[in-house]
Amino acid sequence: MTTTTAENEIVELKSGIRQPWPFDYVRIDRRTGGGSIIYWELLNNAKLSVNYFDVYFVERGTGELDYIGPTADFLLIDNQQRSFSLLKEGGYVVKLMTSDGKEYWSNISSTPVTWNERDYIYAGEIIRRERQLYEYSGRGTTIYLLHRKWGGAVCENCVDLSSGESTNPLCKNCYGTKYDGGYYRPVEVKGGLLGFEKKLGGDADQELETFSIRTVDAPFVSHYDIIVLPETDKRFEVVGINPLVSIKGHPIVYGLQGQILKESHVIYTQDILEEIELEEYIVIYDGNV
Ligand SMILES: [Zn+2]
Repeated sequence: MTTTTAENEIVELKSGIRQPWPFDYVRIDRRTGGGSIIYWELLNNAKLSVNYFDVYFVERGTGELDYIGPTADFLLIDNQQRSFSLLKEGGYVVKLMTSDGKEYWSNISSTPVTWNERDYIYAGEIIRRERQLYEYSGRGTTIYLLHRKWGGAVCENCVDLSSGESTNPLCKNCYGTKYDGGYYRPVEVKGGLLGFEKKLGGDADQELETFSIRTVDAPFVSHYDIIVLPETDKRFEVVGINPLVSIKGHPIVYGLQGQILKESHVIYTQDILEEIELEEYIVIYDGNV
């Protein structure tokens, strides 16, 4: 199969193939409802002591750096709506500062979208109507999404070095995912609740609770992510992601389905609601530090 240079470029930027040591990947997800989520991992063998990261936006064409903010975590939200608006496009770079004062830079990562002005205006109108729908239906709600890690440093507590697999599904460091930390910190997702349903399923054909939500906030989501409902602290695993409205193949409204996790699941040992209250977990930087 042959691909054009431009296509290769997009694939490489998205998958992080070209990230310099010690970065494993840097990924960008645009939030239709505003802003972008930037998240990254370091290579497993990097063995560096992380002090903090700085994240910058790089404007395409000028190369000008716009400081987004610092974080000691591996995820940051830029709530400036650069996508789905007429603001200049560009990408993000992450700088790692180690405890011994060394700095390492990632390459620029972006997720290009080939929309014209009409598409942006159309998207803006869809988003506005969606939000009205959530508000006026009385079903507007907020959930928290924990994006599962699929890379980065492996868990030192439970991963067997010869097989590379987690030996303890109840591990409180990686929650059985085998990657250090298990999940990225909770991210707020606003949407319209479609409802709860009970159906038979699972090993013993027991009754399983499922729920569904409609949202403009969720490009970040993937299967096996965890959803937390703040009213009840119930935790669901994402089992369905349906793009409901797309423009030129880029989804802007999603339907998500979650399936309840058993109370014995290790994720219930993490006090997620407390983390959310300790604002540091959901601080959204607006460029003012
Ligand atoms: Zn572990």
